[in-house]
Amino acid sequence: MDKYVCDVCAYVYDPEVGDSDADIAAGTSFADLPEGWVCPM
Ligand SMILES: [Zn+2]
Repeated sequence: MDKYVCDVCAYVYDPEVGDSDADIAAGTSFADLPEGWVCPM
C-alpha cells in the first residue's frame, strides 16, 4: 500500500500503521480514510 505524505507538514500516513489518534485502524489505505481526515499536525 502507498504511503501518503502531506504537502504542507510532511506528515507521513502509513496505511500499515493507520492513525490511532484519529481512530484509523491499521491497514486502512489512504483512499479509504474518511472524508474530512486531516493530518494530525
Ligand atoms: Zn499536514
